[in-house]
Amino acid sequence: MIPFNKPYCSGRELKYIEDVCHSTTMSGNGQFTKKCHKFFEEKYGFKKCLLATSGTDALEMCAMLCDLKPGDEVIIPSYTFVSTALAFLREGAKVVFADSSTQTPNCEASNIEPLITNKTKVIAVVHYAGVACDMDAIMALAEKYNLLVVEDAAHSVDSYYKGKPLGGIGHLGAFSFHETKNISSGEGGMLVVNDERFIRRAEIIWEKGTNRAEFYRGMVNKYGWCDMGSSFLPSEFNAAYLWAQLEQMDDIQNKRKHIWKMYDEGLRGKIDPLIKLPVVPEYATNNAHMYYMVCPSLDYRTKLMNYLKENGIQTTFHYLPLHSSTYYHDKHDARVLENCDNYGDCLVRLPLFYELKDEEVMHVIHSLLNIKW
Ligand SMILES: *Cc1c(COP(=O)(O)O)cnc(C)c1O
Repeated sequence: MIPFNKPYCSGRELKYIEDVCHSTTMSGNGQFTKKCHKFFEEKYGFKKCLLATSGTDALEMCAMLCDLKPGDEVIIPSYTFVSTALAFLREGAKVVFADSSTQTPNCEASNIEPLITNKTKVIAVVHYAGVACDMDAIMALAEKYNLLVVEDAAHSVDSYYKGKPLGGIGHLGAFSFHETKNISSGEGGMLVVNDERFIRRAEIIWEKGTNRAEFYRGMVNKYGWCDMGSSFLPSEFNAAYLWAQLEQMDDIQNKRKHIWKMYDEGLRGKIDPLIKLPVVPEYATNNAHMYYMVCPSLDYRTKLMNYLKENGIQTTFHYLPLHSSTYYHDKHDARVLENCDNYGDCLVRLPLFYELKDEEVMHVIHSLLNIKW
């Protein structure tokens, strides 16, 4: 069976983890954490990076920094992972769901603007499959209505919008290094602070509500409790693993792009024209996080996934729209989100991971060009 995903070990992970065993810092914010922060700050020009224990935690830090009051509203896409919603719900906000666009699962300014009320404080966008939302239009909305923008950049490492790195455009951004993402540390994430106003508070929230980070830099001679916070920083073991992956980033990205391109060249214009292939708008780059297809119906997708399974290929669908989830369906203003429901029913993802072999990709393509049921 060709699995849908297989986490990849670049080779240096064990060595770096051993280095941590022999060092004096095993908790957070040691040498590997600092190397990872510096990597992102230098390569992408992010103002302030803070590793987190997961993408979910990075989103929670974003939500805490938005300083929400009960009743404040946050607009998020319904076609996303639960964490995007949970982060804001935990802060007492009301989540308002935006539909996806017809072209891509991303939400867009035209389906966000009608949802803005005088209680709206934040727009949280998700760059689905690492393909950018139209950020100029979304940032213009934020400016017009005085809102904050949080980028859920969980899929978006090393991807760009009009030359700007994703995660670095909104006021705050959150990455994930979960084993299903391009760059992984098992579980892991990172907060990116682009608006300098939030930097000091971000460090305090990160360090359990204390100004310990300033103490370590010698800026204060003792540290204490100054704000809300939690233990968001990962241990050096996770950072060491992540650093090994970051060192190999170009190689990892090139391999993933090679596989993505093989799928696209093998399928575009050749597969059943009822199946839609991914769209990458002109303003966006493709970081090959995912190769997805959109089937004409739920029934078609079920048959296709079964057929591929019989051919030794594991595929997966993706998000169950949050607006119809058991937990939240009766807690929001019911609206029909047609495009989102369509992606929920019809989107299917093909295997894509570093160690996937060309022959295996060819087998998937061949199976898709000869669909039988
Ligand atoms: C993976 C993912 C998250 C959560 O990241 P974790 O690191 O698993 O906590 C959040 N949002 C989106 C869109 C994701 O794909």
